[in-house]
Amino acid sequence: MKVIDLINNSKGTAFSFEILPPLKGTGIEKLYQTIDTLREFDPKYINITTHRSEYVYKDLGNGLFQRNRLRRRPGTVAVAAAIQNKYNITVVPHILCSGFTREETEYVLLDLQFLNITDLLVLRGDKAKHESVFTPEGDGYHHAIELQEQINNFNKGIFVDGSEMKVTASPFSYGVACYPEKHEESPNIETDLYWLKKKVEAGAEYAVTQLFYDNKKYFDFVEQAKAAGINIPIIPGIKPFKKISQLSMVPKTFKVDLPEALVKEALKCKNDAEAEQVGVEWCVAQCKELMEHGVPSIHFYSIGAVDSIKEVAKIIY
Ligand code: FAD
Repeated sequence: MKVIDLINNSKGTAFSFEILPPLKGTGIEKLYQTIDTLREFDPKYINITTHRSEYVYKDLGNGLFQRNRLRRRPGTVAVAAAIQNKYNITVVPHILCSGFTREETEYVLLDLQFLNITDLLVLRGDKAKHESVFTPEGDGYHHAIELQEQINNFNKGIFVDGSEMKVTASPFSYGVACYPEKHEESPNIETDLYWLKKKVEAGAEYAVTQLFYDNKKYFDFVEQAKAAGINIPIIPGIKPFKKISQLSMVPKTFKVDLPEALVKEALKCKNDAEAEQVGVEWCVAQCKELMEHGVPSIHFYSIGAVDSIKEVAKIIY
């Protein structure tokens, strides 16, 4: 069943989570353990992230360097297929502009179509570590909405080389990303909402938020989105606070604020075990309040936080 239908048909707040493909050369068993741990809470769907290539430079010794493309976490499509087969659950692979040409994207779509995977999260993707400004790969795209257009065309049987064919497979449906504390490159929340509305008009059926720790920011964002004419479900993305070092790492990495009350509690902790407990308690309170407000679904970012999510889910589900 499509994600949007799973959310709309869910009795109570749907539970879902996101996983990363294993590192290059690593087996999938550990990933299955994560899924097994969280499966008892009846996830409605599982997202699988995608990661762009980075480049490594080999010194050729004569003042020249050879640039080699390296994808540290390849295999999103294969991981999605493996999970779908093993658990018979809806999988949502992420599909990116970042690091992909149009033709490479088309190959990904074809693979997914053959595997009968039809739900996607459509994203621009992070910039490369060495980039100060996002740069598309070859003829790839600058923004998620352009990738949505390619997918919409693919659904109609129009391919990147301009050829057309009658489509017999199921079409792709998709969600997009959004940012209650605005995207880091956006001059203000209004501009960000303007582009989010365009993504909805282009076919996004729901949006998943960047993680946040202050529910008020989410509630305000949902109100502003509604006022701007955005009427799709806006799914809160949540990750339990885990380590003292995250006090500086979270704002830097995700461009979100940590609420003063959470910071105060975290600063009292003598070690990460105590910080983890603070994080679980904060997350439970956050989720309970979100559920009281009738959010359609809560989406958990599981990387490095599976045990905490289990603790939270035991209490709220
Ligand atoms: P866009 O929608 O392109 O927006 C990026 C910026 O451009 C925003 O400031 C927006 O306001 C503006 N904008 C949008 N459209 C236009 C336009 N047409 N013209 C001018 N400006 C425009 N990254 C990964 O690499 N892999 C992942 O798997 C991944 N998963 C994610 C999952 C979620 C739920 C979220 C919230 C983020 C995820 N990210 C992932 C990070 C995401 O790719 C980055 O935040 C990226 O910088 C922006 O992606 P986007 O799809 O929001 O981009």
